[in-house]
Amino acid sequence: MKQERKVALVTGASRGIGAAIAQQLMNDGFFVVGTATSAGGAEKLTAQFAENGVGAVLDVRDGDAINDLVTHIEEQYGAVMVLVNNAGITKDNLLLRMSEDDWDDILNIHLKAVFRLSKRVLKGMTKARFGRIINISSVVAHFANPGQANYSAAKAGIEAFSRSLAKEMGSRQITVNCIAPGFIATEMTEQLSEDIRKKMNDQVALNRFGEPQDIADAVSFLASDKASYITGNVLHVNGGLFMA
Ligand code: NAP
Repeated sequence: MKQERKVALVTGASRGIGAAIAQQLMNDGFFVVGTATSAGGAEKLTAQFAENGVGAVLDVRDGDAINDLVTHIEEQYGAVMVLVNNAGITKDNLLLRMSEDDWDDILNIHLKAVFRLSKRVLKGMTKARFGRIINISSVVAHFANPGQANYSAAKAGIEAFSRSLAKEMGSRQITVNCIAPGFIATEMTEQLSEDIRKKMNDQVALNRFGEPQDIADAVSFLASDKASYITGNVLHVNGGLFMA
């Protein structure tokens, strides 16, 4: 059913930060399409979202799947007015040991997917003369972390991409911003050893990891009318780990 509510698309909504973002945007009154990589994950989201949204399968590495999903959303629910590019993984290794596959995979899942998804939703946003593209970057685009050359490069690329796109689309009232989380308690950071987690914690001024809701609150703000004059920016949500 075409929605009277604005449609938001959140990639990687099945867990962690994306799950909190999807829930927050539903609380804010958006109709949310949240993606997972498996059919089971997408079905769970559909059940969980009830009348406020729907789950969909998407591997952001698949350009045809991106086109098909956005076409389906436009036909079924309406044009995407808020895009949150959140899906992501890490494949850490020192550069000397990093394979080309691990480099390509990270660049494809993060940077290339942001290019493809943003490009695909722009037509609908341009027509509406409204749009919010919110890209989840990382503190490591600014703050060096050994073993993450692929991930840092992808996230820095997303931020530079966002600034260019913000200039291109500003006259249509489409804003493009990034959120750069610090250390957030999700499965991504649970993979780290206790020792590394402690060392990371000690660097954070607020002396604790953030919660997914901290990022969801920042997305909620950037998607709202209160942020209509903010574009091409990076909002740092890191507890004082890095001060821009
Ligand atoms: P997470 O808990 O590991 O969740 C990752 C999400 O991305 C899941 O929903 C997963 O779907 C989805 N995903 C993975 N590969 C995908 C692919 N190829 N196509 C589409 N979706 C895919 O991660 P998180 O910590 O919430 O991270 C979310 C975002 O925040 C990422 O962009 C990450 O780089 C960024 N970030 C996180 C932190 C942190 O400390 N956690 C810090 C800075 C930035 P499935 O459930 O189906 O696998």
